[in-house]
Amino acid sequence: MKQPYDLEQLQAAWQAAAAYTDKGNVATYIPELAKQDPRQLGVSVFLPDGTVISVGEADVCFTLQSISKIFSLIVALCQNGPDYVFERVGKEPTGDPFNSIIKLETIKPHKPLNPMINAGAIAVAGMIQGRDVEERITCILDLLRKMTGNPDIRVNEDVYESEKRTADRNRALAWFLKDSGVLVGDVEETLDLYFRHCAIEVTAKEVARMGMVLAADGVDPLSKERFFPADVARICKTFMVTCGMYNASGEFAIDVGIPAKSGVAGGILATVPQRMGIGVFSPALDDKGNSLAGVKLLEQLSRAWNLGIF
Ligand code: GLU
Repeated sequence: MKQPYDLEQLQAAWQAAAAYTDKGNVATYIPELAKQDPRQLGVSVFLPDGTVISVGEADVCFTLQSISKIFSLIVALCQNGPDYVFERVGKEPTGDPFNSIIKLETIKPHKPLNPMINAGAIAVAGMIQGRDVEERITCILDLLRKMTGNPDIRVNEDVYESEKRTADRNRALAWFLKDSGVLVGDVEETLDLYFRHCAIEVTAKEVARMGMVLAADGVDPLSKERFFPADVARICKTFMVTCGMYNASGEFAIDVGIPAKSGVAGGILATVPQRMGIGVFSPALDDKGNSLAGVKLLEQLSRAWNLGIF
């Protein structure tokens, strides 16, 4: 009998999307990311019974970048509760690029509009508790180690150093947040935590498994262990729909219809409630910062497997 999600359809989606890898550009504003090979394309699907199907470069390591904003938010929500978190960061999409500074000054109070833009994620990093940066990053790493089943998940030091050296825009955002009273504590330390969590290294296979945990409302599909409350998963998935694909989130919601979060290294985490997690990796980006071939692949797969949630 034909499986509901079969490898042939995944291969067909991969094939169709592979034609787009030369249409985008790798991110260069973090110099280390400019070294990535734009022709790579990998996809992995993780199903509730633990079945994994993958095509292409699904075992190649890449850095989470903005995908990590979901996991820093999970830790901040678990440590502080939603009331504390949403006093300091909003719940609204911006329609602006991920690193935009403009609305921070024009809206009052000066809190970032949501936790998926850089300003919001820096504010969230400021809420993560611990004695020092080491202890604070370990909270995020521990969560990801559990979610992926890989105890060796770590920060890519070269990418971290590269971003730290060149992150003038993020520094500007952080100091503005400090001035507005949104960011408490040491600014450079919080930025350091933010650069580290963006540089956490994973594979598309691991991202698929992370997506499955979100799809299962915070429960590990294999051990049935709960990693975070269902309400936290609900908040994250809602942000993924409204702000997960930068200022192309509306278009993605209509064309693909799956909660997803992308990062400038070319990764996309997609989560289909109760049905599957999907990890995609292809470093050539479109003009909004989303993986160009990655979006094409998800579009095709959503149609083939009827994955849209709306
Ligand atoms: N570390 C990146 C930055 O702050 C993350 C951006 C992204 O992936 O959207 O610019």
